[in-house]
Amino acid sequence: MTQHTRSTCPYCGVGCGVLIESEAGRITGVRGDPAHPANLGRLCSKGATLHLTARPEVQEQVRLLQPLRRAARGAAAQPIAWDTALDTLAQRIAATVRQHGPDAVGLYVSGQLLTEDYYAFNKFAKGLLGTNNIDTNSRLCMSSAVAGYKATLGADAPPACYEDIAQASTLFIAGANPAWAHPILFRRIEDARRANPALKIIVCDPRRTDSAALADLHLALRPGSDLWLLHGMLRCMVEQGWTDPAYIAAHTSGWTALQAQVAQATPEAVWQHCGIAPADLLQAARWFAGVESGSDPRRPTLSLYCQGLNQSARGTDNNAALIHLHLACGQIGKPGAGPFSLTGQPNAMGGREVGALANQLSAHRNLADPRHRAEVAALWGVPEVPAAPGKAAVEMFEAAAEGHIKLLWIACTNPAHSLPDQALVRRALQRAEFVVVQDAYAGVATARFADLLLPAATWGEKEGTVTNSERRISRVRAAVPAPGQAWADWRIVTQVARRLQPLLPQRAALPGLFPYEGPEAIWNEHRESTRGRDLDITGLDWALLEAAPRQWPCPTGQAEGTARLYADGRFATADARARFVPQQPGGVAEPTDARYPLALLTGRLRDQWHGMSRSGTVESLWAHAGEPVAQMHAADMARLGLRDGDLAYLTSRRGSIVAPARASDELASGQVFLPMHWGDEVLGGASSTGRRLAGVNALTTAARCPQSLQPELKHAAIKVLKAELP
Ligand code: SF4
Repeated sequence: MTQHTRSTCPYCGVGCGVLIESEAGRITGVRGDPAHPANLGRLCSKGATLHLTARPEVQEQVRLLQPLRRAARGAAAQPIAWDTALDTLAQRIAATVRQHGPDAVGLYVSGQLLTEDYYAFNKFAKGLLGTNNIDTNSRLCMSSAVAGYKATLGADAPPACYEDIAQASTLFIAGANPAWAHPILFRRIEDARRANPALKIIVCDPRRTDSAALADLHLALRPGSDLWLLHGMLRCMVEQGWTDPAYIAAHTSGWTALQAQVAQATPEAVWQHCGIAPADLLQAARWFAGVESGSDPRRPTLSLYCQGLNQSARGTDNNAALIHLHLACGQIGKPGAGPFSLTGQPNAMGGREVGALANQLSAHRNLADPRHRAEVAALWGVPEVPAAPGKAAVEMFEAAAEGHIKLLWIACTNPAHSLPDQALVRRALQRAEFVVVQDAYAGVATARFADLLLPAATWGEKEGTVTNSERRISRVRAAVPAPGQAWADWRIVTQVARRLQPLLPQRAALPGLFPYEGPEAIWNEHRESTRGRDLDITGLDWALLEAAPRQWPCPTGQAEGTARLYADGRFATADARARFVPQQPGGVAEPTDARYPLALLTGRLRDQWHGMSRSGTVESLWAHAGEPVAQMHAADMARLGLRDGDLAYLTSRRGSIVAPARASDELASGQVFLPMHWGDEVLGGASSTGRRLAGVNALTTAARCPQSLQPELKHAAIKVLKAELP
């Protein structure tokens, strides 16, 4: 008989509800959940084919089904019992801490984990082990949004919700391609356009994407010139009298200083830096300000933004500059308005909530604040949480490459594919004395470097929660048992912790720190950690969550959650005023030059997800794009002697890759686009030219935003040659 299990899609941050169909312990189908507010029954191509990723023959071929141990690097991994694997890991960690201190251990986790997994990992590092060396692959996609919100609004809290799309008069989509990266949100944008022909859509993107094709105004700015554009729009608003002086006076601080700074962003300067014509700049500013029809009340503007702003060496400034526009026009805290950063991964938000980053603590607490550290230590029942910030993503691998981090525990992410500057990452993985890979999939590139492999359960097999872009917490439920000996991630962490605690002299005498028997107990501890915080979810018990997903905050006594934040104009800063923060416009970290004259842009494709461990197992998802193509402007291809399908040899200061070239009118001359999904673990072996194919991150730079530490994955300077056939 067919069973139906309500759960959540494990791909993107839209967080669509799914109904999983299963029979006799096998997943047989999936449908969109009509009751889930994120998608109301719809699914995109990836979500609709989820059941195909759980076919038994797929499980057999691609899953990591038992713990494995390598006696030496390069040797074949051999099966071992779970008890042996857990003992080995606990003993290796204890020995590393004894010899080198807790900061010689690094935990690198993932926005694919459930909130309860994330919570357990964070407590393991900061509470049990005594190091802040835990960071997540969400650093690569969301940390600039976090830093931007905190700098301006005082808390890492996206203030808007999906319903605002239908209520906006202007949608300002910056550095995002929801048509491909957030397809179900894009359906809502299309619905809004049909329902309201007067809706204005502005898309800021160097490429003419499918999202840009829907726009009334496509601002094809030069890569990395976002700050000039946003400052230019603010300057226009000031000059034209389109700001909201009453809102600025009542609810913000820092306006005078910022106004002086944006004065340099004249229409001529914006043209020079961004390539945006003065008339388009003026139009964008007018639509954004919501004053299109003169004396009408100001019409609401919603910004939707993502990696184009975030994955930049100026990522935090980019985010703050966009939020400034909303504050300057009072476009926040009301239906249809607000700066709404979209999350890439299904639970990037959950990781932010539990503070599983090297510079954060539980429930949006700050690591730098001694009172916050003391609160978390008391909650966990440990004497202290260390004060020194840990290593953030790329920093962690730099520290391993330099020999400072000796043991790396990597869970549910694939840094040998997804981090920038792969030459550095591989040096780190080779130099680390002990590498643990905890993953559902055996074929991830990072697994080749592992001394110990721990099989993890995945979608359809796990219980817990995730939070989507609009702060909505949904249940994830198991429809079938995990295959082989795969375990839930929280359970693996808990079992290692129980073995490790007695081996750590400073923690051995404490009561057991990991008493959990299931995700609900972890959820309750996390819930308690949020009491009185901006994301208070003390009112959201497991039973309520079982009934329906809800948006935080949801404090005790408020069962329905909160759709929008800051409606009262009071922000999460000490004086309740939002802040205009000073900033100087600038460009990319690695400008093009005579040696590397082309701008490499990277991004997602519509039908694949990350490194394709899961989505790559579905044949129909390959129909959209079967190989990693380097898209270029036809004039550049002609100059380089390339025709469609010719192999191009692309080189940056860090490495080279080969990819077929194809002319595209979506790009300006001087730009090359490559998708992020391919790595050498997917293509394997060699191409027909004898040259090894590798992923785009052989080319990308580890340069990063100094505030958010998010790398500039979106841009690198490269050169391109035609690859000669033998
Ligand atoms: Fe899944 Fe995202 Fe598609 Fe929704 S939009 S079905 S969450 S991949």
